[in-house]
Amino acid sequence: MFQRELARALDLSRRGAYRDATDALERSLAAASDDRERVLTLTALAHILPRQGDLQAALRRASEAVALARQTPGEGYDTRLAEALTELSFVYSQFLMGRDALQAAGQALAAARLARDPVREAWALNRLAVAYAAMDQTEQACQDTLQALEIAQGRVDRERADADRELLLSCLNNLAHFWLQAHGEALRNNDRSAAAEALAQAGPYAERAATLVRGEPNPFIIAVTLSNQVEHLLGAGEHAQAAALIDEYDGLSRLHGYAGMQRQAQAQRALMNLKGRPSEVEAAVSTIQRLLSGQEPPPLPARMRRQMSLAMYQACKARNDFARALAAHEQLSDLERQSARSAMALQTEAMLIRQEFEQAQARAEHALQDARRERERADHAEQEHSKLKRQADELGRMAHEDALTGLNNRRHAEFALPLLLERARQERRPIALGLLDVDYFKRVNDTWGHGMGDLVLQQVALCLRKQLRAADLLARVGGEEFMLVFVGVPSARAQEICERLRAAIARHAWNELAPKLTLTVSIGLSTAESPDHPQTLVETADQALYAAKNGGRNRVHQMSC
Ligand code: GH3
Ligand code: MG
Ligand code: MG
Repeated sequence: MFQRELARALDLSRRGAYRDATDALERSLAAASDDRERVLTLTALAHILPRQGDLQAALRRASEAVALARQTPGEGYDTRLAEALTELSFVYSQFLMGRDALQAAGQALAAARLARDPVREAWALNRLAVAYAAMDQTEQACQDTLQALEIAQGRVDRERADADRELLLSCLNNLAHFWLQAHGEALRNNDRSAAAEALAQAGPYAERAATLVRGEPNPFIIAVTLSNQVEHLLGAGEHAQAAALIDEYDGLSRLHGYAGMQRQAQAQRALMNLKGRPSEVEAAVSTIQRLLSGQEPPPLPARMRRQMSLAMYQACKARNDFARALAAHEQLSDLERQSARSAMALQTEAMLIRQEFEQAQARAEHALQDARRERERADHAEQEHSKLKRQADELGRMAHEDALTGLNNRRHAEFALPLLLERARQERRPIALGLLDVDYFKRVNDTWGHGMGDLVLQQVALCLRKQLRAADLLARVGGEEFMLVFVGVPSARAQEICERLRAAIARHAWNELAPKLTLTVSIGLSTAESPDHPQTLVETADQALYAAKNGGRNRVHQMSC
């Protein structure tokens, strides 16, 4: 999905269908599944948005592309970063933010060199040159472009012919443009020889670009190239040829909706007509006045506006139309002030966009950190919680467990007995409760010591556990006294179980613990068909136990309640 959309978008972009390309890129941005794809798309958007005159959007996309490229490591990192920075630099230049443009292009160049990619290096050099030009350092701009041109020339007619031709054209166009800019500057300064020299320098580049562009599939690049060529021709006084080219690129711009280039065509036609017949001059003057009023977007570049005011001033002065000449002159100085002011406004806007973007990034970063902290806190809380739970479990276990034997303790018995009784009552099942007491246990302690007494108690517990898997409750409720509860066991069966238990203890090889040691237990068993109160059950068992002891010990005595 993404690959298909992106390929379609790039194809549209190559053919100069920027509006459709932008739509397609927005769609592929939505379909992008990882940051590499997003960087590619954002960079492509940043490349074509300035060509539609949307510098603000371009700055946003370029800033996003660069920020994301920096955060997206792995294969192709330097290439992605170089491309994104190259676009960002160009946008900064359009905002006349020379220093930022210079910095971005410098970083783009370094990244392209790391990527060992000469084409991207040439593009970065190209944008570096544009940045220098934005700072009126035309000479440096030309030097860097020549270096880019050298790379571009070494590459034409290879496998990536289209992309390389675009690079070559961009170099040639820029060189022509920079020299034409110097030409305009020299004219404003009344330096005729410098103007002639600059025009002579621009000529060959403009010519070469105009020839090369004939094979170009992208009408936008054709339009830009032709308008450069027109500027050169106008400077050289070749009006007929210029007029044909203006018509050509004006037609292309109308067809493909390049509003900026259409405006450029109107301006160049008016500039040309200023030097034409009187009727043409009248029309040209009013066109220029309309264009300079800046009421119809997009506005012309400041350089173009200055050029028109100057031309108007010169034309009116030559025709002795001093009133208009003065007006044009005043307009020119107004424009100088205005262009300084609007450059400032643009720069402020760019700075705001950048700040907004950086803030959004910082917010996202903070949110990420918050989430991370929150997760750590939650992890910590979870660890704390499970530690507490373990402790609680441990405490709970301790609270319910007899430390010596590992059986349930009295507390547990008191807690569990009412529940068992309730269950039996609800299910209408019988219940039996046995109290088991070791006979003459005091003697064990007295004869073999308290330690041996403990050991004996542990073995009794073990015996009970083994024999009483069926019991619902087995607890040590006193020193040598144990409680057993059976739910759903009829009294006869409970009697049998207790008897088996008594026999097992009496049979046990106690002499393995201590020579001559023997041990018996007495059991009092209370049984109930429909029990009412736990206390009744326990007291009856207690009475039964008493009876068993009195009856001679080592026996089971059963009583029902
Ligand atoms: P009877 O047959 O009448 O039950 O005689 P008896 O000696 O077993 O009864 P008595 O209640 O007189 O003695 C119980 C003894 O159990 C007293 C006490 O020292 C001892 N005893 C209670 N708890 C422990 C214990 O945890 N460890 C040890 N070693 N002895 C204990
Ligand atoms: Mg006893
Ligand atoms: Mg006792």
